[in-house]
Amino acid sequence: MNYTASYVRNSSADFIDLLVIPNPFEDYVNSGTVIESTSTGREAYCFHGDLYYDEEDYVCEECHCYMNRHDTYHIRLRHVCMEEKLTYVMVDKHRFMCPQCGHYKMQQIPFQADGHHITNELLTQVESMLSNGFTNKQISGLTGLHQATIKDIDKARLKRLYTEDGITLKKPEKQARYLAIDEFKLHDGYQFAIHIIDLESGHVIWIQKGKKKQVVYDFIQFVGDDWMSNVEAVACDMNSDFQEAFEEKCPDIQIVYDHFHLIKNFNEKVVTEVRKDEQNRLIREGKTQAAQSLKGSRYILMSKRETLQKKDTDAHERKITQCAVPLFGVPEQRQLGENEHRYNRLLAENKLFCAIDIVKELLHDAFNASSDAEMADKMDYIMDVCNGTENSHFKWFARLILNHYEGIIAHGSIRISSGKIEGINNKIKVQRRQAYGYNDDEYFFLKILDASRRCYERTLSSPKLLH
Ligand SMILES: [Zn+2]
Repeated sequence: MNYTASYVRNSSADFIDLLVIPNPFEDYVNSGTVIESTSTGREAYCFHGDLYYDEEDYVCEECHCYMNRHDTYHIRLRHVCMEEKLTYVMVDKHRFMCPQCGHYKMQQIPFQADGHHITNELLTQVESMLSNGFTNKQISGLTGLHQATIKDIDKARLKRLYTEDGITLKKPEKQARYLAIDEFKLHDGYQFAIHIIDLESGHVIWIQKGKKKQVVYDFIQFVGDDWMSNVEAVACDMNSDFQEAFEEKCPDIQIVYDHFHLIKNFNEKVVTEVRKDEQNRLIREGKTQAAQSLKGSRYILMSKRETLQKKDTDAHERKITQCAVPLFGVPEQRQLGENEHRYNRLLAENKLFCAIDIVKELLHDAFNASSDAEMADKMDYIMDVCNGTENSHFKWFARLILNHYEGIIAHGSIRISSGKIEGINNKIKVQRRQAYGYNDDEYFFLKILDASRRCYERTLSSPKLLH
């Protein structure tokens, strides 16, 4: 690195002081530096100087004649921060014109990043922060760059990482044995996109907007039949489109329904509906107070008993800490917490709520089964319990199981973890929340591919990189 002695001129006074500034730029001589104040109130060093140019620059590419300097542009490039001050490099850039053939040529600035008004050094620094998990907002705060610029840099970086040519995705890094397919909401909250995960690595290997079957066809065409022939199973929700499309193209593949999606169906279609019916019945019978007490019970009914117990214990401990009550004389017998007490009351009041409780426990137990036969026994029992209630919502759930029987009991021998699917869905939610202020699906998809390959999410609110 060269060090060039130059002067700092304080623009508000004729004060001149000697300052040594590192000058890493090729063909650039810093002739003076001014301290300016930016619109956001931050101080900035503005390096003024001249760019050397070669004889080459004057030669016409078309007819090899000597060109004239036609006009000059004053260019301002953002550079890396120094002593927490922003920095700018001011350069005069010339345009040459050939007197013989009329050809124009723009002088190149060797240290300018392609397509941006920033230096290569700043580009490298931003890319390094991005690959270390800093958010666009954090980087904007540290470098003073606009978030739109950071987004452009990030998108180009992700395209280099995950696409062949900026459009086509790179083929999966390795052969997958188990896949999962699911959908997620886009920024507008109405449209959906579909993603496919390699369940062993947890990597998202395909994302696309569109009709469910078409997405599956496009994915299979993308990876090829050979690659697909080594995939043993696909986990999906009970939407028949995914299943049909996979079975149509790859008849040997086993469809598996995971715990997560079955529970989701149970919560959305049985718990919610039974509670609504019960509330309406109480209102019809004039028991408004009882109906009122059912409000907000959805969460309680959907939770596992252990979750409620944990919540109650946490609340109890918080209370003890807050009141600084000494821990002497805590009763041996565990007292019921508020949540669990309410849960028990709900069960006592309604036999259907009781059935919800039983089915939930049975489902949890069934998904721990270690063979297809054991799983089949347990699912048969769940269907009996559901049909025994003679309630339409429970009977619907029993039919759902029956219609997807093979895919459900396949879980007994193909242990597919719901954790990976839920983990990815959570990462997608985080990415959507950060949103980067743009409705750019392509960028959102690239961020999801990247997040799924990261083993941690940075949670620092104020990174200490430059401090
Ligand atoms: Zn020429």
